[in-house]
Amino acid sequence: MSIKEIITVPDEILKKVSKPMEKFGTNEKKLINDLFDTMYNSNGIGLAAVQIGILKRVLVVDVSNKDEEKNPIALINPVIKKLSDDTSVYEEGCLSIPETFIEIERPKICEVEYVDEKGSKKNLKCDGLLSTCVQHEINHLDGKLIIDHLSKLKKDFIIKKISKIKKNPDRVVV
Ligand code: ZN
Repeated sequence: MSIKEIITVPDEILKKVSKPMEKFGTNEKKLINDLFDTMYNSNGIGLAAVQIGILKRVLVVDVSNKDEEKNPIALINPVIKKLSDDTSVYEEGCLSIPETFIEIERPKICEVEYVDEKGSKKNLKCDGLLSTCVQHEINHLDGKLIIDHLSKLKKDFIIKKISKIKKNPDRVVV
C-alpha cells in the first residue's frame, strides 16, 4: 500500500483513453489499494487509475460522510448501462485540477456494470452524489475532464492559472 502522486492538468496523460483491465492478480490488487490510499489521503471521493499515471479502466469511490462507516467501492472496467432523464447539479472539483469548482448537470441516476476485485460481474445503481461521482470518474477513463464542460476560453484560462501555481514554489514566512 502506498500513496501515489496525483497527476494534474495540463499533463497530456489525463486526455488519454484507458485500456480495459484483463488480469486480476497481485499487481492489480496493489493498484486498487494504492488508489484507495491516495484518494483517502487527499480527502477525495473518487479516483481513477489514470490520475496516478496508470492507463487502466479502474476507479475507486467512497461517498460516505465523515461520521459514517467507510464505503469503498472499486469498479473495474465499468460500463454505464442506463442513465436517467432526471438530472442533478453539483459543484464538482477534481483532484487533477486544483482549486477549481465547476457546476455540472448530469443524469441523477445511473446504472453501471463492472467487475469487482474478485473478478465477479456486478451491477450498481447509483443515485445523487454517487451517480455524479461515478460518471465523473468514468469520464476520466475516457480522457474527459470537468473543464471540458467549459468553453475553450475558460478552459485555457484555468489551465494557465494552474500551470502558474505549479511553477511558483510554496511561499513561506519564517
Ligand atoms: Zn476528477
